[in-house]
Amino acid sequence: MTEPATTLIHHGYTPPPGFAAPQPGVFKASTVLFPSVAAMRNFEWKDKTAYTYGLHGTPTTYMLEERLCTLEGGLQCLLLPSGLAAISNVALSLLRSGDEVLIPENAYGPNKVLAAGELAAWGISHRFYDPMDASDLRTKINAKTALVWLEAPGSVTMEFPDLCELVRVCRAHRVLCALDNTWGAGLAFAPFDLVPGIEPTLGVDVSVHALTKYPSGGGDVLMGSIITCDPALHMRLKLTHMRLGFGIGANDAEAVLRALPSLALRYGAHDASARALARWFQGRNEIAQVLHPALPGSPGHAHWRALCPGEGARAAGLFSVIFQPRYSQDQVDAFCDSLALFGIGYSWGGPMSLVVPYELASMRGAWPSHLKHGTLVRFSIGLEGVGDLQADLSQAMRHLGI
Ligand SMILES: *Cc1c(COP(=O)(O)O)cnc(C)c1O
Repeated sequence: MTEPATTLIHHGYTPPPGFAAPQPGVFKASTVLFPSVAAMRNFEWKDKTAYTYGLHGTPTTYMLEERLCTLEGGLQCLLLPSGLAAISNVALSLLRSGDEVLIPENAYGPNKVLAAGELAAWGISHRFYDPMDASDLRTKINAKTALVWLEAPGSVTMEFPDLCELVRVCRAHRVLCALDNTWGAGLAFAPFDLVPGIEPTLGVDVSVHALTKYPSGGGDVLMGSIITCDPALHMRLKLTHMRLGFGIGANDAEAVLRALPSLALRYGAHDASARALARWFQGRNEIAQVLHPALPGSPGHAHWRALCPGEGARAAGLFSVIFQPRYSQDQVDAFCDSLALFGIGYSWGGPMSLVVPYELASMRGAWPSHLKHGTLVRFSIGLEGVGDLQADLSQAMRHLGI
């Protein structure tokens, strides 16, 4: 070994052991080295006692998985390249041709699009249920139902369901339920222990989290997780995860590991600003309805209250408003365009406040009776000063016209 090309690849130096720092190290690998061929043949990746290939885990991804289990109160975790990949992994793992999946009417849109696309093409049917009516779910569950999706609150329209009752309905029918827990983020309520103190515990079977949102916190990482409390269920999901080749990059894992210590603080700050601004909107005569689960009068507020009791009850930094029907779509678009501090863009959970007008009529079968008519705009409140945000909203109202 004399040529630099060789010695720089097969270098003999090992740094001294005992290094410690607040942040965990970042291990990057597609290839993982084995000490011998025999070890290569014997190493088992499924139980996380060893390493075999970058796709199946590194110390960095194992570390992130364990912290996310702690956050959500689960026991096993899978990491995926996006929140939507986590949703599709759950669907592809738990559904077979001839099965049916039930999805709430107000679910995250791409979950519905997956059902109408790939799932339908593979002979898996889907139906939507009214998440605000547990009896609707009860009547729609049938012999074909293999999975029920839950979301609290629903995307965009923010209705908060009676999550405990929906889980009880699934339990009574022995159907698996998966919660999209992105809004709660493991902080607003405990998905595997919805009513602390009761035995046996009441919880969902699977919690999916778009880490893209609050856990990343930067608006610059795409990642998802699937958390469970049942080793057999986890193994079903994990085998699908392995066969589909869902892995994540070490730099992305590091970004989330770095952001997790400030998660609770950031969540609280997003929440406080969002509630203040949602209340401000309630006092504006341009607005027909404010949709924020922590505000009395909002659809499902009592369910949020019951699930998130006490003084410190948490909510995310999201809310929607419905403008009075006298304002046209163009006028509401002009309002959004004239905001200076709110970016126009999808997603949420980062430092910058965002705004998106939605065409609700095209998203729901029928206009829900609990929602006023008018153009709906959703806000994701960032970490800017709340006074500045309110002043910006105030000036943009002047661009609505009359
Ligand atoms: C953003 C989001 C997802 C998907 O996350 P991506 O990482 O963007 O794919 C899933 N569910 C909800 C509720 C979301 O807000």
